[in-house]
Amino acid sequence: GAAEAAGGNGAMLRHLARKLRASGPVTVAEYMREALTNPGQGYYMRRGGVGESGDFITSPEISQVFGELIGIWYISEWMAMGKPNTFQLVELGPGRGTLTEDILRVFKQLTSVLGKCDVSVHLVEVSPKLSEIQAVMLTGGKVQPNPQDESAYMKGISKTGIPIFWYRDIEDVPPGYSFYLAHEFFDALPIHKFQRTEKGWCEVLVDIDPEVPDQLRFVLSPSRTPATQNFIQPEETRDHVEVCPQAGAIVQRLASRIEKDGGAALVADYGHDGTKTDTFRGFRNHRLHDVLSAPGTADLTADVDFSYLRKMAQGRTATLGPIKQREFLKNMGIDLRLQVLLQNSGDTATREQLLHSYDMLMNPEKMGDCFSFFALLPHHRLVHPDKKDKPESKSPLPPVAGFNELLLK
Ligand code: SAH
Repeated sequence: GAAEAAGGNGAMLRHLARKLRASGPVTVAEYMREALTNPGQGYYMRRGGVGESGDFITSPEISQVFGELIGIWYISEWMAMGKPNTFQLVELGPGRGTLTEDILRVFKQLTSVLGKCDVSVHLVEVSPKLSEIQAVMLTGGKVQPNPQDESAYMKGISKTGIPIFWYRDIEDVPPGYSFYLAHEFFDALPIHKFQRTEKGWCEVLVDIDPEVPDQLRFVLSPSRTPATQNFIQPEETRDHVEVCPQAGAIVQRLASRIEKDGGAALVADYGHDGTKTDTFRGFRNHRLHDVLSAPGTADLTADVDFSYLRKMAQGRTATLGPIKQREFLKNMGIDLRLQVLLQNSGDTATREQLLHSYDMLMNPEKMGDCFSFFALLPHHRLVHPDKKDKPESKSPLPPVAGFNELLLK
């Protein structure tokens, strides 16, 4: 039946069907959490899906230039913030580890700029499968599981000699001056879906279809739910809304950490600024996939609501963006970087590959327009604390690269 059609992961559907029959419908958030990160059968826990052979392809997997420019963003912010003598690079949801690998290569190339700065890498990853792939990519597989002296579940040394630590939760990452990175991370976190009705806000729930065995369907809650009361903004004007409270909680945490210990966060994802209504969808083998069919075998995702993230920073930090990926990368100097790589590449195939991947990242019809960059920065990074009193007393603050043109001194 439907469980067999589920492509070898009928166990997840049976588990959900049992649960729904026993205790009634669940929120979309709970459904998504089960489908993606259930420790036994969750999508990310078993296969991971990122990359050409997986279910979806991401920018760092398309071109090394993407990660290199992000590496330059961190160096540029590190310089603008007065070159602190130590920083942590903290990546949320590192996938195959490609982005970190490209960033670390830039750090290595710019050793003369970074000088004696003490850099460490901290990866927040729930998937044992993906953390293994990351370990191979970044350390050649030489890692130590469950180090006794750390809050990390694994540690190792990068091929470039930088210590790397793995955690399941941002809460476990030690405090300290940190640069955070979340690329295609927030879109994987569970969302609640709400609908405005004559009776007020109701929540969209996932239930079992009584007519068809092991078939899931959407139903509407008969009245308000705890989530409708807690997560809908009073000023909301849309009739259908998606809210990702876990993303909100993580942004709150990032903002307080940056406020307290310094640093910055760069978030890149597809998303909108509080305008879209229905973006919940699934991907399998690079094709759209019905979100309710064969849970655990497809990536489930929803657009990131940047207006919500901005709100959840609660003024603890300044925010910049969202700015479109093609503008951000242009500001970071992608055109110049492409020219250099083209000049240095001997064969036509490589050159075609470079042009093709540039087009994927930049073309407004491909990833250029639907992906955006968003940043959290300490207030003093954008406004001099004593600006009001003595406007002429300090040199102007350097603009934030990516959101403005990169100025290389
Ligand atoms: N940033 C990578 C991968 C994106 S896929 C890239 O751009 O290629 C999403 C990543 O987030 C995966 O590594 C997945 O395992 C991880 N992830 C999903 N939910 C998570 C959670 N709740 N906590 C930590 N990591 C999570």
